[in-house]
Amino acid sequence: MLRVSDALLGTEEKAAVAAVIESGWLTQGPKVRAFEQAFAERHGAPDAVAVGSCTAALHLCLAALGVGPGDEVLAPSLTFVATVNAIGYVGAEPVLVDIEALDSPLMSLEDAARKAGPRTRAVILMHYAGQLARREPWRRFARERGLLLIEDSAHAVGVAGAGRYGDAAAFSFYGNKNMTTAEGGMVLMRDRGSLERVRRMRAHGMTSSASERLRTRDARYDVDVEGWNYRMDDIRGALGLVQLGRLEAMNMRRAELAELYRGRLAALVEREGLLIPHRSGRASAHHIFPALLPEGANRDSVAAAMAAEGVQTSVHYPPVHTLSRYRRRWAGLKLPLCEAFHRRELTLPLHPGMSDMDVDRVAGALEAALETAREATA
Ligand SMILES: *Cc1c(COP(=O)(O)O)cnc(C)c1O
Repeated sequence: MLRVSDALLGTEEKAAVAAVIESGWLTQGPKVRAFEQAFAERHGAPDAVAVGSCTAALHLCLAALGVGPGDEVLAPSLTFVATVNAIGYVGAEPVLVDIEALDSPLMSLEDAARKAGPRTRAVILMHYAGQLARREPWRRFARERGLLLIEDSAHAVGVAGAGRYGDAAAFSFYGNKNMTTAEGGMVLMRDRGSLERVRRMRAHGMTSSASERLRTRDARYDVDVEGWNYRMDDIRGALGLVQLGRLEAMNMRRAELAELYRGRLAALVEREGLLIPHRSGRASAHHIFPALLPEGANRDSVAAAMAAEGVQTSVHYPPVHTLSRYRRRWAGLKLPLCEAFHRRELTLPLHPGMSDMDVDRVAGALEAALETAREATA
């Protein structure tokens, strides 16, 4: 089965993990710190804080910036559910926003402007598929209303400018992301003091870490803020350092594969009304390759036919307001573009281990599946 996503892991990763095990220090320590510094430098930030997941990173960003009960937070419904769950963790109210257009599935500024009100405190952008949201319009939007600007940058690791839009950004190193530590996440923040608050909040609010207490031979610590155990460990820190070193090459290969797809699928776009969102040539991490099937094509049959040919596909995402947990809360909410996008969306395999021939194989399987689906309805 050709998978939708797959990590590139090799001898360097194995050696890095083995070295941590041999060092005798497995939990958060020098490898995590080195990973934070390298990640910050790679993204043009002065410093960073590594955590156990992007979900934890989002929670800490909101908590450290003081978002809480009584506050509303604007967020897209077309995102992974963690973006919206995290708003609930701090007791704030998510306000879900539609996308710009079917060929531009990023959060709509116009819809956000309609939904911003006196209780709005923050906006969370999500760089869907790795394509960056429009920077200046969103910065102006937040500045004019006095809102915190937060990025869920889970799809955009390594893209110039990602994580540097506003007050805070959260990245993911989950196994299917552009670089992985199995589970893991990172926080960037504009304000140094807030970042240091995040550093404490990730470890119970404690003023010193276990490795610092060992190094300084001073067992004392204090707790001065609310905290959780959201630490990353040195096994993951070491993995992250190696993966970060490969990131540019991996993202370049993703970009090449995405261009190949566009070329190979051009006839289906022309003839059948297949739609490939996002313009080509714009800065992107190409985290996933979404395609909108022709109007009326049965996505489940197409996906099943492709699976039978050994091609896994996926759907990004079921809109948050349609999930069982949230459906009743947003019973009256209509986000027509987001809903139409979801009905037609099929995610094709995209990862740096793929060959040019894999792209041909996927495109061929999609073409055949659409053909069969059309015959079935004819
Ligand atoms: C993967 C993902 C997350 C969650 O990341 P974890 O590291 O698994 O917590 C959040 N938001 C988006 C958009 C994601 O794709």
